Amino acid sequence: MKKVLSFDVDQTLNIAKTPIPDDIADLLTQCLDHFEICPISGQKFDQFLFQIVDRLKNAKPKQLQHLHLFVAQGTQYYRYNIKKKDWQQVYSYPLTDEQVKKITKAIETAAEELGYWEADKLQEGDEIIENRLSQVTFSALGQKAGTEAKYAWDPDCKKREAIVKRCKELAPEFDYEIGGTTSINAVTPGMNKVFGMTHLLEELKVNKEDVLYFGDMTQPGGNDYPVVQMGIDTITVRSHEDTAYALRGILGLIK
Ligand SMILES: [Mg+2]
Repeated sequence: MKKVLSFDVDQTLNIAKTPIPDDIADLLTQCLDHFEICPISGQKFDQFLFQIVDRLKNAKPKQLQHLHLFVAQGTQYYRYNIKKKDWQQVYSYPLTDEQVKKITKAIETAAEELGYWEADKLQEGDEIIENRLSQVTFSALGQKAGTEAKYAWDPDCKKREAIVKRCKELAPEFDYEIGGTTSINAVTPGMNKVFGMTHLLEELKVNKEDVLYFGDMTQPGGNDYPVVQMGIDTITVRSHEDTAYALRGILGLIK
């Protein structure tokens, strides 16, 4: 049997950028009794708390010990400290200031050239490019835009594919991945989910055969694809509803 269930977050556990729904929260809580649960996504730590941890209201501290947060594609790792009753950073691999500057300039230039720089659509205090320490993230309409607007912006990924293509010319030393609904994550090569998954295997002392991964962007170029390429068993989902369906099946087999 698998020891670890690992999940992409946006579009796999929830509607992009929103907290996980009740049924996912309930299913994950149940899974904590049987598996190590490892969400891994390009999001920041605060967003993991808002989207996942705060929603696991019924999970006991003992259960939370089996929840492992692989933040910013697993370039940062947080674990629950039962004594302190708080989350503790285990490791972090940040980008340098110079790398952040280079990436920011490339993305901004590419988006502007292509007419996809939507600064006029931003809500107050929001930003298009965000430094997430281990990666720089482009969110076309910012973090605070409504879900509907985000879905409508680039449903076929064509805009982001064009931006990525241009970024690769402007700053070829970085990797650019399409994720979520309006996002592109820029990282140093190798700092993708392979990095996160490799560290996950190491930290949890498991083999890749022990892991089952859920993601919605498992196609080539998607931010879940590196996990597929590693040879980890993967379930491709269209939404959190597919994930809930699969988790019910898994839990049904255990009980
Ligand atoms: Mg996703």
